[in-house]
Amino acid sequence: MRKCKQCNGKLQRVHRTFLERFTYMAIYGCSKCDTEEFVPRRYTYHFGEHARCPRCGSYRPSKLRERDKIDKMNFGVLNLAEQLAGGRLYHCCFCRLQFYDRRPLAEKIKVETAVEREPVPSPPDTAKSGA
Ligand SMILES: [Zn+2]
Ligand SMILES: [Zn+2]
Repeated sequence: MRKCKQCNGKLQRVHRTFLERFTYMAIYGCSKCDTEEFVPRRYTYHFGEHARCPRCGSYRPSKLRERDKIDKMNFGVLNLAEQLAGGRLYHCCFCRLQFYDRRPLAEKIKVETAVEREPVPSPPDTAKSGA
C-alpha cells in the first residue's frame, strides 16, 4: 500500500483521463489531504529537451568519453535508437547505468524548476526490470 508523503494517509488510485493514461502508469490521490502522486511511464524520460537517466529519470547524468567496462549499459530499444541517432554516452551515478542520449545536459537551474514541476520518483527497485 502506498502512503501519502504529506500526511502519511492512505493513497488510492485515481481515475486517469485518456491523455494521462499515456503519460502516467498510475495516479494516486490521498484520502485525507489533496496530495496526488504521479507515477510517470518510463518512456516519458525520453521526451523533453534534456538528457535524463532512462531508469530513474535523473537530470544529472555525467558525460562519458568511452564506455565503462564495469558499470551496466542500458540495452533497451529506445537506448539503441538514441545511440543510432548520434546520442552521447552518459552515466547515471544513482543507477550506475550507462546510456545514450542525444539531448544536452540540463543546466542546474533548469533542473530545479523541472523537478519542481514534475517530481522525480525515487529510483525503482532493481527487481522490476524491463522497459
Ligand atoms: Zn495526505
Ligand atoms: Zn539513474
